[in-house]
Amino acid sequence: MHADYQLIILGGGPAGLSAGLYAARGRVKALLIEKGAPGGQVLLTDWVDNYPGFAEGISGFELIDKMTAHVDRFGLEKKFTAVSKLDLRGPVKTVFLENGEQVTCLSIILCTGARPRTLGVVGEKELTGQGVSYCATCDGPFYKGQEIAVVGGGNTAIQEALHLTKFADKVTVIHRRDELRATKIVQEKAFANDRIDFLWNAQVSKIEGNANGVNNVKVAFKDGSTTDLAVTGIFILIGVAPNNEILPLDQLQVDDAGFILCNNEMETSIPGVYTAGDIRSKNFRQIVNAVGEAANAELSAEQFLAGQEHEAGQH
Ligand code: NAP
Repeated sequence: MHADYQLIILGGGPAGLSAGLYAARGRVKALLIEKGAPGGQVLLTDWVDNYPGFAEGISGFELIDKMTAHVDRFGLEKKFTAVSKLDLRGPVKTVFLENGEQVTCLSIILCTGARPRTLGVVGEKELTGQGVSYCATCDGPFYKGQEIAVVGGGNTAIQEALHLTKFADKVTVIHRRDELRATKIVQEKAFANDRIDFLWNAQVSKIEGNANGVNNVKVAFKDGSTTDLAVTGIFILIGVAPNNEILPLDQLQVDDAGFILCNNEMETSIPGVYTAGDIRSKNFRQIVNAVGEAANAELSAEQFLAGQEHEAGQH
């Protein structure tokens, strides 16, 4: 069975780079394909304080720089180009590149990640990393003693609002309806917490700030009234969207939101196809679990390749 590579890894965030590290050290003929610069969502994070081994914390940019240097030290082959589609049927998988080229492989690890859903309001993009955050676990500790806002009414928003009260003096939850989507027990905890306030039937219309960061959030209510919230941080926790546009959703099993389903060994519904990181269907999306899943996915792929070689040897 001929293919250009034994393994192709799609995506160059922490999951893709970790899978690449294991593949390179395992002497697997592997290629990592990334459409832009490596890094994924970590590059959205100004400062990472919860990645083990970096006691002083590390910037998202530097962490990715170190992960890239690490795979380079073991000679991982990388290609920076956009993928247009995949054919995962059959023993040889084909990756179609936007430049018209095709690359084939015997196994593949899908690490295309996710992106936070955004509000799309004025100031959001400009102040991302300077008061606008999509990750409470990452950025919460920077808001000690301050007043902040959380947007959303799901489990993530309400659980993270509770978590943020460990740091902030006051957390105002801005929710677009008059009831929360979060499970009842989480709601009860939030209602009982006197550091959490709610603005109901409310939508953020603008985020204001300057070079020092966010200083005001404009909120519009369903009844037409408006208010200003003098907060220094706003956490937009309205769910994440899967980067699944290039994936063959007619071939792969995904959950209702479009995230890839897999077993405990990171194998998807297609033999030889693995996944890791934020594109996986799961509850917690952290750098540390993305890299762990990637190691698991790559070792599973190696086992799969060894099985195939063994079978070929018997014929
Ligand atoms: P989610 O359940 O989809 O909730 C998203 C929230 O954001 C909803 O309240 C939604 O409002 C709001 N929203 C969406 N788009 C918005 C917009 N454009 N403007 C304003 N608000 C907007 O997402 P999630 O909270 O991230 O949770 C994702 C999944 O993970 C869920 O299945 C959740 O249960 C699960 N999860 C589980 C745990 C756990 O501990 N078990 C923890 C976290 C997450 P509406 O309510 O009006 O639609």
